[in-house]
Amino acid sequence: MQSALSVVNRRPGTGGHARRKGATCLRRIPHHAWLFRRLTDDLTYFTRGTGLDPDTRARFAARGIRVVETGVRKVVDDEAGALAGVRLDDGTVVARRVLAVATRTRARTEKLEGLNLPVEELPDGMGLRLASGTAGTTGVPGVWVAGNATDLTAQVGASAAAGALAGSHINALPAAADTDAAPAAHGATR
Ligand SMILES: Cc1cc2nc3c(=O)[nH]c(=O)nc-3n(C[C@H](O)[C@H](O)[C@H](O)COP(=O)(O)OP(=O)(O)OC[C@H]3O[C@@H](n4cnc5c(N)ncnc54)[C@H](O)[C@@H]3O)c2cc1C
Repeated sequence: MQSALSVVNRRPGTGGHARRKGATCLRRIPHHAWLFRRLTDDLTYFTRGTGLDPDTRARFAARGIRVVETGVRKVVDDEAGALAGVRLDDGTVVARRVLAVATRTRARTEKLEGLNLPVEELPDGMGLRLASGTAGTTGVPGVWVAGNATDLTAQVGASAAAGALAGSHINALPAAADTDAAPAAHGATR
């Protein structure tokens, strides 16, 4: 799949980890370009054949974000191994110091396939999630999900909270079942 590239010439002192951590998806990346634009006034967007709608194009122009539609051949390093720029299909090298690449997000749920849990496609090509309801219930009785398996954007706090909530609901089930069964058991021992 083609992915757009956002490339930033970062100002000293601004976030420099985008090359390692850039993890956005194909069609959300214009949104990420708006975010990077707050860090630098020297931002280049390489479409890599993904296309830009007229409204996004106008917004890029208004924010001074340069758009390059020539294909990207490779990322070029300098002699020291640091990022030097991006070589285009026409041989031009666009000098850049920070690079962010769009990806699709997918929870590692391969081992759960046998459960046939319903999955849901998230909007804007963001990725796939296990569908869940209140407190992490799924379409399969007795299976709850929490954290990134069902909420790809959840960070540690939200994931832990969702796990705790699912846990409390899971715990409530046998407690209710014990209580439901108690009158009959109580009657039998009388
Ligand atoms: C690059 C990056 C940077 C991030 N930075 C931050 C940040 O700064 N702050 C923040 O709050 N959040 C950050 N997050 C998000 C954070 O990592 C997640 O929100 C959090 O880890 C989700 O917790 P989780 O328990 O749902 O999933 P995970 O932490 O991924 O835990 C799932 C665990 O299940 C294990 N597992 C998977 N399959 C199986 C199997 N079949 N059997 C047994 N074990 C299995 C995995 O090995 C893993 O240990 C970042 C995420 C990424 C990718």
